[in-house]
Amino acid sequence: MNSQSLSALLAAIVTFAIGVSVVLRDRVQRPFKRFATLCFNLCIYQFAVFLHHTLAARPLLSDVMYVVSLVAALLLPISSLRFFRSFLKRDPRGKPPAPSALSLVAGLLFVGLAYAMVFYGEGFHHSRVFTVPLALYVFLALAVSMLEIYATFRRTLSRVEKTRLLYLLVGGAATLLLSASAALPDLGLGLPVAAMGNVLSTVYMYFLSQTLMRYRLLDINELLGRMVVLGVFVLILAAIFGLMVAWIPSDQRGVLFFNTVVASFVIAILFEPLRSGIEGQVNRVIFREKYELGLLIDALRAQLANVIDAREAVRLVMESLEESRRVTHASVYIVDGDGSGYELQAHLGPRPAERVDAAARRLFLERLTSVKGGLTLSLEQLEREHQSRLAEDSATEHLDAIARALDEVHAGVCVPILAGDQLLGLLCLKDERLREAFASDEIDLFRQLAAQMAITLQNSKLYDRMKERDRLAALGEMAAGLAHEIRNPLGAIKGAAQFLAPAGGHDDPGGGPSSPGALPADARQFLDIIVEEVNRLNRVVSQFLDYARPYRGDMAQVDLNEVVRRTAQLVVPEGKVEVQVSLDESNPRVRADPEQLRQVFLNLAINAVQAMPEGGKLSISTGVRRLGRKNAPQLFAEVRFKDTGGGIPPADITSLFIPFFTTKEKGTGLGLPISQRIIANHGGTIEVRSRPGVGSTFTVVLPQVERDDDARSGRITLM
Ligand code: ADP
Repeated sequence: MNSQSLSALLAAIVTFAIGVSVVLRDRVQRPFKRFATLCFNLCIYQFAVFLHHTLAARPLLSDVMYVVSLVAALLLPISSLRFFRSFLKRDPRGKPPAPSALSLVAGLLFVGLAYAMVFYGEGFHHSRVFTVPLALYVFLALAVSMLEIYATFRRTLSRVEKTRLLYLLVGGAATLLLSASAALPDLGLGLPVAAMGNVLSTVYMYFLSQTLMRYRLLDINELLGRMVVLGVFVLILAAIFGLMVAWIPSDQRGVLFFNTVVASFVIAILFEPLRSGIEGQVNRVIFREKYELGLLIDALRAQLANVIDAREAVRLVMESLEESRRVTHASVYIVDGDGSGYELQAHLGPRPAERVDAAARRLFLERLTSVKGGLTLSLEQLEREHQSRLAEDSATEHLDAIARALDEVHAGVCVPILAGDQLLGLLCLKDERLREAFASDEIDLFRQLAAQMAITLQNSKLYDRMKERDRLAALGEMAAGLAHEIRNPLGAIKGAAQFLAPAGGHDDPGGGPSSPGALPADARQFLDIIVEEVNRLNRVVSQFLDYARPYRGDMAQVDLNEVVRRTAQLVVPEGKVEVQVSLDESNPRVRADPEQLRQVFLNLAINAVQAMPEGGKLSISTGVRRLGRKNAPQLFAEVRFKDTGGGIPPADITSLFIPFFTTKEKGTGLGLPISQRIIANHGGTIEVRSRPGVGSTFTVVLPQVERDDDARSGRITLM
């Protein structure tokens, strides 16, 4: 076996492995699919070349393989161009490029080949008249792919990006030239040119696969690092294999097979520890900084796993990032209670924006959660997209908006803190001293850190909720007992007061003679006060028992507009309060107990009216809210109570739903907690937005039931 066929076999096997690894990684995105096609195409070509040479003793088979290799070679430029176009465009959804001229030429050559085989017999496809134009076509057409890279290189403004494209171009051109020269007559230099071409093309495919999987072009250091790791790894594995198998005489096939199995077993066991060990060593020597950052983040993740408090977690992250000296700016944002935005929790370096509003920065946040972005967002990535889309105005506007958002949070790289598809927060990092400060492995490290932060945040929320639940349960139990203790004496007090001032025993208001035993007017007045206050206390205690008692209600499908309309009729405008009702036309439906909903709505409306003693406007409106993913949205119905009252001071906002919090002289402070309890039992929430001096909006959000349910429930009642 000569060096060319051996190298062709090796190249075929390795290219096949690379193709499979890419398919396993991602089968959806277009560049991945096209790269895999290119790999398999190349693999078929190399394998056919190998078989053609090896099967020389069997001319017919060898010739079939020769034809297969020709066909594969014809298809190579097409699969190459298709891959490079989709890869350099970086738009997996865009219009597929159509290399129609190439397909045409390939088709023609293919037909020519078939024609030649049929009419001119076996010899023609070996003759120069046929092979020279064919080889010329293949190499010139492959060169078109290189031109494509060159065009992108010319268009690109970023210096770093240019350098990387240059690697891609030089590597590609060298591979192409070496492979091309293999087809020329022997140059007489005594070099195995074809073999080198095969090896280089394999290395180049590996480089491309790595570039593809990292969503960005690798820099030369990263590539070298990877090659060294791979090289050392392969050498060690080969040594293991060699030691186990090489000494066995070739006639003892059984022993050979047995030892091969054992060697594979040993390799499988050693695979992970060996790989990470070698990677660690190589990184320590070649990329010291990266290695240290890796260690630091690993330690931080281990630490975070034992933290339950979100603030503590954020503090630890900031401390470690500062210690790493790899960032000049860092910040963490965490989602608000109502999901309307992300608040700054801590930062390093100059102070970034306090808040990222979910509505105003929708594009930015959507991009962060979309898989297309590889779940991180960097300025360089945006720049790249910007350049490739200069022609489309709307797309660049979007990109500009996203870049502005990144700038506001001082991020060169922004990593989402995700739990499923819920965005819990943002980790923003920047190193001002360098452009493209973070290599892709480092971004991976930050991504792992963000994943751990997401777990910690979720745990901390759960823990807070459990603590609150326990607190409320204890409070409820205690209060229920206390309420009973209060109610009994209250009944006695009221009875006694009514006994002393029996109904109808009033003094004659005309000033006539009072009946015997009647009380003096002021004593009667005090007794009335006693009865009135006892009634009030009784009301508070009953309400509180309502709050503490487990929920009972009659759930049914309810037209929310109808409930709101009825409630609005009950609101008696005091003073100069104007009440305006606007209802959503889609008639949102919810599963609820209408009586309880009315109680909540009335309470919110009365609070709003009471917040506007000098008059104002209460707007009650219904609407629909879509949350979750675009293609599978969750629908919620909302009822908003917007007033133009004095608003709520920020310090009070968190106390609104705590029992007995009131700022009113005769208030019970139970209206909102009871309302919240009712709405929570319906699977909904109450959101509050308030600006002192401007007004407040209380929004009740309830899960909407699907329209189909109507029909279904209708059918059930008919039966
Ligand atoms: P109460 O109405 O008996 O005080 P609530 O629980 O209904 O009890 O309300 C608690 C407190 O929340 C009120 O005392 C008031 O300070 C504040 N509040 C509720 N709604 C509004 C509103 N629309 N505008 C301003 N403050 C409000």
